[in-house]
Amino acid sequence: MAVLVTGGAGYIGSHTLVELLEASIDVVVVDNYSNSKPEALNRVKRITGKDVTFYEVDLLDEKGMEAVFKKHDIEAVIHFAGLKAVGESVALPLSYYHNNITGSLILFKLMNQYGVKKLVFSSSATVYGLSNLSPLIEDLPLSTTNPYGTTKWMIEKILEDIYQADPTWQIVLLRYFNPIGAHESGLIGEDPSGIPNNLMPYVTQVGIGKRKQLGIFGKDYDTPDGTGVRDYIHVVDLAKGHLSALAYTTTQQGIEAINLGTGKGHSVLEVIKTFEKANDVKIPYTFMDRRPGDIGTCYADVSKAKELLGWEAKRSLEDMCRDAWRWQSMYPEDYVND
Ligand code: NAD
Ligand code: UDP
Repeated sequence: MAVLVTGGAGYIGSHTLVELLEASIDVVVVDNYSNSKPEALNRVKRITGKDVTFYEVDLLDEKGMEAVFKKHDIEAVIHFAGLKAVGESVALPLSYYHNNITGSLILFKLMNQYGVKKLVFSSSATVYGLSNLSPLIEDLPLSTTNPYGTTKWMIEKILEDIYQADPTWQIVLLRYFNPIGAHESGLIGEDPSGIPNNLMPYVTQVGIGKRKQLGIFGKDYDTPDGTGVRDYIHVVDLAKGHLSALAYTTTQQGIEAINLGTGKGHSVLEVIKTFEKANDVKIPYTFMDRRPGDIGTCYADVSKAKELLGWEAKRSLEDMCRDAWRWQSMYPEDYVND
């Protein structure tokens, strides 16, 4: 019996593989390396001392995916694979809908065909849209503002319909808040291609001198210091949340959307200050206009995760900053220089 992990070479996938392997859970990984590198899986092996069964397959390749289902006794699936860049999704909606939706449909069809009905799906806090107020609770009305977010919302809907038609499915929709940080070994971490869109990889690249200064998007939000507030969660805490969700699917039937966050909001200026203090590194910054589509404040209500999964985030913002910096300074060119 094994757990199929789609997108396992990616940022969150690789950290989750470490936790799965360390818990002695058998894994089979598929990834097409469209946004990751083979080295990530070598590093997972280095951390855990365990081999990873891996297939370089695209989810859109139904035959290739079916071969994996045929060959292995898959018991459950953790589905990370997907394209995730918001701006790119606005420019390339067809690619995003095709990759994320069609890829997921092929996966769910094969799961159905092979009687695999336990699923943990990577959704996102982006499905809460712009108008809901934090703390965000799972049963709020959903809306999205870009094709990436819409793929997450649509996949959630598709899974609800699958469950309605066949209540023997056991599905957890994990709505991630802002995953940052890296494994404490410094061997795996976030590996953005090009100019980072997200705050922490931008900060670490300013820290090593790859970028001159951070642009802070907006200083007039209705927040304590005027800069945007988010619920940053350490990627290792997030990874552990997947093991709890997986365990939940083995005992409960149903479909549940569950937030994975810390329940605490931190502003951009707070992140910079904490990063500078934790790592003794200066982060020059300048204020810029608000980024279109951004909201001032976004943080999770985390009571459902605690109640249903018995999981809560343990690591502090300082831990996140320290671990992100260790990864960045050990591997300034990410996975390529080893
Ligand atoms: P990532 O890009 O690092 O990992 C995704 C992996 O999926 C990559 O290795 C990529 O090569 C692979 N992939 C993409 N399309 C594929 C396909 N058709 N077939 C096979 N493999 C494919 O991203 P991540 O940050 O690890 O995110 C994992 C999941 O979590 C994604 O679904 C993402 O949308 C979701 N998510 C991420 C965040 C975040 O801030 N990182 C927040 C909310 C939700
Ligand atoms: N942010 C910023 N400069 C950057 C990137 C992000 O000021 O170069 C801010 C952004 O406006 C938001 C916070 O940092 O308030 C987190 O942004 P990120 O893109 O990491 O996450 P998201 O906005 O998707 O929650």
